[in-house]
Amino acid sequence: MAQLVLFPDKERSVHRRHPWLFAGAVGRLEGRARPGDTVEVLSDKLKLLGRAAYSPNSQVRARMWSFDPAESIDDVFFKRRVALSVARRAALPELRGQDGVRLIHAESDGLPGVIADRYGDTVVLQLTSAGADKWRKAIVNAIVQATGCARVYERSDSDVRALDGLEPVTGWVHGEAPAEPVTIEEHGVRLGVDFAGGHKTGFYLDQRDNRALLGQLAAGKTVLNCFCYTGGFSLQALAGGASHVLSIDSSGPALDQARANLARNPHLPAERAEWLEADVFQALRDFRKEGRTFDLIVLDPPKFAPSSAHAERAARAYKDINLLGFKLLTPGGLMMTYSCSGGIGIELFQKIVAGAALDAGRDARIVRRLAGAADHPVGLAYPEGEYLKGLLVQAD
Ligand code: SAH
Repeated sequence: MAQLVLFPDKERSVHRRHPWLFAGAVGRLEGRARPGDTVEVLSDKLKLLGRAAYSPNSQVRARMWSFDPAESIDDVFFKRRVALSVARRAALPELRGQDGVRLIHAESDGLPGVIADRYGDTVVLQLTSAGADKWRKAIVNAIVQATGCARVYERSDSDVRALDGLEPVTGWVHGEAPAEPVTIEEHGVRLGVDFAGGHKTGFYLDQRDNRALLGQLAAGKTVLNCFCYTGGFSLQALAGGASHVLSIDSSGPALDQARANLARNPHLPAERAEWLEADVFQALRDFRKEGRTFDLIVLDPPKFAPSSAHAERAARAYKDINLLGFKLLTPGGLMMTYSCSGGIGIELFQKIVAGAALDAGRDARIVRRLAGAADHPVGLAYPEGEYLKGLLVQAD
């Protein structure tokens, strides 16, 4: 096995159990290793620190599989790690009985580059790094064994794979396509999951709790759901007794799925739902001109800043929609506003929202801080894992 020898003092991040080794920390490679191969990680004094997956094409030059020098990386290793990850969810009462659960949350579950979401008895797997890609078979077998799921679909077509020199890979890796569309029930609402054609693995499970919270806030309210995707927030608002729910997305297929989702829930008042295919930035400006207002607004935009390099431009975009949101809010209205950008920390996000309120001339306060659900944990050694942050604000 090849060995990655770190520069002096560069083993500190390994001692803190941070899973990434940046190119600048790596002194030399002894022996030969191809992308995704397991390498031994050594301090400059040649002390064995653990084992990692080698990514020669990426700035993240290696991702630690194990910090235990005695642990080897093989099929049994993946069985153990996957089983642990699945067991963590089973131990959390709030996740028990859920149809849609993230089973493996990459670095924060000790499996860098591995994401697995379970929708009923279908698991959707996304491998984003060379190391994870190399161990596909072991990971799939481990998932099948730990969950007893009927089928596993691979959805490894995320852009980040290119950073590791990987091509997109999609298709069935265990079992066959189900006869019926895959659906899940979330807080009493039935939702279809287009795992092959939708975003990411098909659905945004991270917002599960926040969608339930919206339902609790919605009774009698006019709701504006911006960036609605397949209508998860919208349907919870309807279930919670909203008087009217206007949902906006720029994606026609997402809105088609949203309408289909509404039809899957005949107990919901469909006549109170309105769907709009539009650019949110433009639509909010138009509402402002028309003098339209809302009691409850959700802003859940896509990732404007994938990394801190994009933070400045992203900050302007967040400021823009939050400012417009505040302007459209009725007195006493509530806004649920999110950022899922890794490059924007919670402090910066709060500053942006504060600036937006100020410029909109609204006095507002945070009534709740919001984050991803419990099946999207954040490794204490890996603060980068905290990508989703939100604020529930109330404006006078
Ligand atoms: N809130 C959703 C997830 C939102 S994902 C849920 O709970 O499931 C972000 C969505 O924003 C995507 O559906 C994407 O199509 C949409 N989108 C991206 N840019 C947009 C824009 N400028 N205007 C409107 N929608 C946009």
